[in-house]
Parts: sequence; structure tokens; C-alpha cells
Amino acid sequence: MTQYNILLDPSKMPDAWYNIIPDLPVPFPPPLHPATHQPVNPSDLAVLFPPGLIEQEASGQSVISIPGEVMDVYRLYRPTPLRRAVRLEKALGTPAKIYYKNESVSPSGSHKLNTAVAQAYYNKVAGINELTTETGAGQWGTALSIACAFFKMKCTVYMVRVSYEQKPYRRSVMQTYGARVLSSPSKETEFGKKILAEQPDTTGSLGIAISEAIEDAAKSGGAKKYSLGSVLNHVLLHQTIIGEEAKMQMESVGAYPDVVIGCCGGGSNFAGLSFPFAKDKLRQGRKIDFIGVEPAACPTLTRGLYAYDFGDTGMMTPLLKQYTLGHNFIPSGIHAGGLRYHGIATLLAVLVREKVMRAVACLQTPCFEAAVTFARAEGIVPAPETAHAIRVVVDEALKCKETGEKKTILFNFSGHGHFDMGAYDAYFSGKLEDYVLEQSVIDAAEECIPKVAN
Ligand SMILES: *Cc1c(COP(=O)(O)O)cnc(C)c1O
Repeated sequence: MTQYNILLDPSKMPDAWYNIIPDLPVPFPPPLHPATHQPVNPSDLAVLFPPGLIEQEASGQSVISIPGEVMDVYRLYRPTPLRRAVRLEKALGTPAKIYYKNESVSPSGSHKLNTAVAQAYYNKVAGINELTTETGAGQWGTALSIACAFFKMKCTVYMVRVSYEQKPYRRSVMQTYGARVLSSPSKETEFGKKILAEQPDTTGSLGIAISEAIEDAAKSGGAKKYSLGSVLNHVLLHQTIIGEEAKMQMESVGAYPDVVIGCCGGGSNFAGLSFPFAKDKLRQGRKIDFIGVEPAACPTLTRGLYAYDFGDTGMMTPLLKQYTLGHNFIPSGIHAGGLRYHGIATLLAVLVREKVMRAVACLQTPCFEAAVTFARAEGIVPAPETAHAIRVVVDEALKCKETGEKKTILFNFSGHGHFDMGAYDAYFSGKLEDYVLEQSVIDAAEECIPKVAN
């Protein structure tokens, strides 16, 4: 009998994260100091991050054990279920086998709690009692608010203005966990005030909110540290618990993926699921097709420039090697707020550059179409971000229908869409706009990217 719901015995939950850096086909391009263009020293990062995370950022160890206190919180919602999407397969009439790792069961509704808990923990043991961060759609702010509540820390969240106005309940959720939520750009930081003076009607952006959160921490005299929800090595590392569990679950039913799919904002949920499988490709040459999915409105991996660029609009971060649309990119208002970021994690950029992985860009209407098909078959309403992954899952499954191939497809169900029903409303009433980024914006990005020998 087909097993639909593949659960991992809690006593078998992996107790280590997988660090892909030692397995990369090329040396990891280090973050550079924006002034000297030399690799940053760990001490340069100490203003923003605690020692435990700085160490992980540059670690050469493949296996990093998960602290007991973090495991204790993981046990509230992990191991997450792996589902065989039999009903979706039937609805599509595909011979493909579709599996998804359901990260929407976490209290925050997405994968983001996996790193929020770890980041709060490493800050707490370093004696830090307050974190600052940014949030776009609100998923990351929610996750960090929960983690801070668990470790009895304060949390300040700079929330991108459009989301702050469009998603008041996300704000209330964060407040429920005790966070202070500000609309970004805000009047609390110099950078926020500067943007407000120049562009009073701005919708805000993740790049701006990151700059505000960094400024807040950097000017706190050591009292506050900053926390980032994606992009950095330590964030991707923490998310590998997803793939480590999925591997054991797939193995328990004698399955192994031919295709691994995830949506890409900063890259953390896709990396989290895919890296433990990418290890098999890098070390043993296993054939797996890794597909990262991004919006055509913010096509970082498929059309961005491979270059060193800032992670934020205010040019406060180190220079990170990545695919970028330019650090002052303001994305159009697509509903997948978590995918509206100008850059991408260096680790993913390297793997796409080296052709270990590939990327695809999608319009939002077809993504919602696929999300609705999924919801009606499997019962869970996907987040608009997750809908991007589902679009490509459906496309791959339909290709199998044509060719008769029985591929095994695995994807990350990164989060549910219960706070995104406004986006579904727009879809049902035919009000969704399908933006494709204009080439002139990408050409202009070249101008703003710092001239560093790449
Ligand atoms: C934040 C978010 C994403 C995108 O971020 P990544 O770091 O690329 O994973 C995707 N899905 C959901 C549900 C999110 O909340």
C-alpha cells in the first residue's frame, strides 16, 4: 500500500546540520570589506553577529551538531511530515511520483523558524538580549518573534511598508509574541529618515528594511545584534535539517529524488531541502536535477549579474558574491513578498554558476493556478512563495505525462498561505498583474554595482 504520510520517529531526528562549503566544486568566494575589497575579518562581523554564528559562517566542517536547547524547540514541530502527493499526481494524471516536505506545520507557518531558533540561541548564549531584523511578507519577522519569546529576548522588526499596510494581521501575530513592529522606512533610523525625505511615497523594500535593522544594531553599543532570515551561510546551514530529515524519510519508503525543487527568495528553503542531496551529486556524481524557482518580476538567478554587490540598499553589509539585480532594486508588488529580494545566497549562486543546480522564472498568475490545483488535491493552501515551487513541480509532472517517465519529484512546501488570502482574492477576481522585469532595470543595475575585480 502506498504510504501517503511519511513520518520520522522523533528519536531519529537528525542532530546535526550539513555544511556544503567543503564540498563546493570551487573555493567559496568570501565576503569582502566594502572599503578595502579584502575578505572581511571575523571581527568585522562582531558588531552584528554573535561568535557562534560568525564561526558557522566560515566553517570548514561538513557536520555541525545542533545544540540541545535548539533541538528542544525543534521537537515542538519537527520532524515535519514528508507527504506523497498522490492526490495531486491523480489530478494531473502523471506517472511521476511527487513528494513534498511540509514545513508549513511549524508554529510560524514556514521553514523560517528553523534558523530563527538557532540564531536566537547563539545570541542568547553570547549574552545578547535584543535582536533587530527586517521582514517582507512577515514570515521571517514572525519566526524571529517566536524564537525571541522562547529565549526571553526583545525583538524589533522593520517591516516593509507595503506589507505593513496590506497585512495587519501579520503585524498582530508578531506583537502577540512580544515583538515591536515598525513600518520601514521608519523615522527611527538615519537611513529610514533619509529615504522618507527623498521618497515619501515609497513602498519600501527588503533592502531598505535590512539597512534600518543593521543601523539599529550597529548603533546600539553592543546591546543589540542583527538577525537575517536568509542569504547567509549560517542561515542556509540551519535549514539543512529539512533535507536531512527528508533523506531519511525518502529512504524509509525506498525512494530517491530525480528532481528537487524549491522557490528562491534569498535561497534558504531551497538550500535547506536540496543541499543534503547535492552532497550526493558533488561527492558521488548522483544525477539529480535541482531547480530553484523565482518570480519573473525578480529574476535574480536567471537574469541577474554574477558580481559582488551589497546585501542591502544602504550599502552597510559586506560585499557578497551573488547574482544581483542591484542593491537599490525596488521590486514590483507581486504577492510573493518573500521572493522580492535583489540578490541571492552566495552558496546558491556558486552552485548555479557551476551548473550543479539551475533556475527557472515564473509569472505569478500560473503560480496561483498551480497553487489552487494543489490546494484542491492536497488540502493545504500554499503561500504565494511556495506556489512558485508548485508551478514548476506541476510542469515537470506534466512533462512526465507526455514522455511517460516515472520521475520522482521532491519539493519543499515552504509555508502555508493563511495570511495571504488577499493575494488569492486578487487571483480569483482577475486582478493579478504578471510583471516581467524590464531589461533596462538590469542594465541600470550594472551602474550601481561597486566596481570590484570579479
Ligand atoms: C521567506 C519565504 C520564502 C523565501 O525565502 P528563502 O530564504 O528563499 O527560503 C519562501 N517561502 C516562504 C513560505 C517564506 O516565508
